[in-house]
This record gives sequence, structure tokens and C-alpha cells, in this order.
Amino acid sequence: MPHLPATDSISAALLDVLDQVVGPPDGVMPLHEPEFGGQEHSFVRACIDSTFVSSVGKFVDDFELRLASYTGAAYAVAVVNGTAALQVALRLIGVEPGDEVIVPALSFVATANAVSQCGAVPHFVDSDPVTMGMAAAPLAAHLEETVEVSSQGVCNRVTGRRIAAIVPMHTFGHPVDLDPLLALAEHYGIPVVEDAAESLGSTYHGRHAGTFGQVAALSFNGNKIITTGGGGAILTNDAELAKRAKHLTTTAKLPHRWAFVHDEVAWNYRLPNLNAALGCAQMEQLPDFLERKRTLAARYQQALSGLGEVRFMPEPAGSRSNYWLNTVELLQPDIGARDRVLAALHERGYLARPVWTLLNELPMYRDCPRAALDVAERLQAGLLNLPSSPKLAR
Ligand SMILES: *Cc1c(COP(=O)(O)O)cnc(C)c1O
Repeated sequence: MPHLPATDSISAALLDVLDQVVGPPDGVMPLHEPEFGGQEHSFVRACIDSTFVSSVGKFVDDFELRLASYTGAAYAVAVVNGTAALQVALRLIGVEPGDEVIVPALSFVATANAVSQCGAVPHFVDSDPVTMGMAAAPLAAHLEETVEVSSQGVCNRVTGRRIAAIVPMHTFGHPVDLDPLLALAEHYGIPVVEDAAESLGSTYHGRHAGTFGQVAALSFNGNKIITTGGGGAILTNDAELAKRAKHLTTTAKLPHRWAFVHDEVAWNYRLPNLNAALGCAQMEQLPDFLERKRTLAARYQQALSGLGEVRFMPEPAGSRSNYWLNTVELLQPDIGARDRVLAALHERGYLARPVWTLLNELPMYRDCPRAALDVAERLQAGLLNLPSSPKLAR
């Protein structure tokens, strides 16, 4: 058991930090709890009283306006969840069955599932050690080596499939370094869809994450920075795409007072008014959540600064993170050591979490094309998320 003493000392040091910053837990301390301290009750009650609890109603429209105004996106289209938002976003920019889509190997499974649900194949690429998101330089080298540019577009030379989109994801709220990625995408003429599910409230060079690509997806699942129970949104600055997003997510029904005419196969993905009511109340509290999450992150960063074996993952330079989940990295990444540390933290009630299993290691994605994933593999073995609920920094 050569690792045991070192792991014990990391666990002890982390437990000290947790006790000092957020602890000790009263029973268990979840990773991220939603908070309903605003007008949730009154908005949801008003929604019920209006009888408009389903996909038509003033809260859905209001929620979309609030999202657009907050993010600076010209349009927001509210949908049932973040995965649906991503799926529709990919479809909007022309991802077709048989295409390939570049996604980070280090992401939540929804990023790849949305690609598969379009009939396309995810093509996994590596992460940047600072942002934890898609890394531009290795992607440039990988594309140079892998693709062929012709009148058909950009094709994977090995599989023959068209590369139809690039999907950077802003990991735990830390923005991806977008400038070099956008330049690369433009060079090849490949559209960018941002998976901004974790980054409501984050900015890159002063502009909101999710407003850089042609389209972006947000999520309002129960564990995200704001929640609608379940929910998501499509962001875009393109009026045509926004119109089409609304059409495709509302059964492609042609507006008419009574006739049911639908002009293509489409989805019933509209966010119910009831969920949007919750969302409107949550949006009012977002600035306060963000402020408390920054305070909590600063406390963690300060308390962790003296440790030799673990480091805090700060927001990347030039960005402002929403610090959705606070993240630390073991400086000697090792999955066994990571799991022993997690076991010690859970033992004391701190429900810390490892990062996701790399998507290329999941059974359904094992045979997908991929680049070298050295950094993603290191991050997988080294990253831990610490309890990050806004209420921990009251
Ligand atoms: C949460 C999340 C999604 C999907 O959101 P749901 O609303 O749960 O469908 C997509 N991508 C990432 C990276 C996420 O964290």
C-alpha cells in the first residue's frame, strides 16, 4: 500500500480545509443544493391560478426575455432540458445523420448524447489544463492531421464523415479559451455550438459565455446555478435560427386560430409555464447566488493556498467564472488516490465528487474517433469537486 500515507495526509488536509470553510456537515453536505429564497412560491402559485401551466403562458415568454437580457444574447428559446437544447442547437446549424461532431472527452454525457441523438458521431478531443475545457492548440494539430478539406466541406480522412460542428463546454463555469477555438473553427468553416449548460453567469473577455458560437445551450437542472426543476434554453444572436428553434421545439405548428397544420417532423420540447415561473424567480436571485459563490470560492482558494499536494482551480485569466462547482486538483493525479480521498470525505459527510468518466471510456462511445487525450486523462484522475451551494457562503 505505497500510496496510503500520502493519501491519508491529503485527506486530512482537505478535511481541515472543508471544516474551516464550510463545515462541519450537519449529517451530509450535498455537492450543490438549489435555493428558493425569492418569489418562487408566489410565481408558481400565480401560474397555477392562471391555469396556463403547460407550454403557453406569460412566464415562459418572461423567462426567455430575462435570459436574453441577462446574457446579452439577442434571443433565448426555453426548452425542457439542457440536453434537448443542445440537440436542437446541433440540428439548427445543420448537423445531419452520419456527420461527426468535435466534443471534449471531459464532459457530462449529455454533450455526446445530443450528438448521437442527431444521428451523428462524437469525435473526442483533449482539454486544456487551466480551463479544463477544449484546448485549441492540440485540436489544431489534430485537425491538420485528420481532416481533408474539399468542396464537400471538412471531412475526417479516416472515417470519411463530415465534421459538422465543434462543441466547446465551459467546465464547472470556467470559460473555455474561446478566441483561438473560434479562429480555428472559422479557418475550417465549421460552426461552433457552445455547451454553456454549466456557465450561466460566466463571462469571457467581458461577454457572456454562450454568446460566441452560432448557438448555445443552457441547463436549469436541479443541480445547476439556477433551476426550473428541469429545463434548458437555446441562445443565439441569429433571428432566423431563433425562429427555427422555436418552430422545431413546438411541433412545427403553423400559427392559426384553430387549424392543426404542422410543416415538418418536430419536437414537443417547449418548457412548461410552471417550470418557467420557478425560473423567473430564480433569475432574480442569480446576482446574489453569483456573489456568494465568489465569496465561497475565495475562501476555498485562500484555505487551500498553503497545501502542497492539492491545488484550487481558479478562474482562467480574462474570464469571470460563475464558480458553479469549486474544483481542486491532486498534483499527483491517480484514480486510486482520488477515490481514497473521496471515501474519506464522504465518511465525514462531505459529498465531494470526482469529475465525469471520460466519454470515450463509456461503452457506447468506446469506438468513436478521438484525438490523444493526455490532459483529459490527467484531469480525470486528479479533479475533485467540493460542496459549492450558495448557502455555504451566507
Ligand atoms: C447539465 C449539463 C447538460 C444537460 O443538461 P440537462 O438539463 O441535465 O439535460 C449538458 N451538458 C453539460 C456539460 C451539463 O453539465
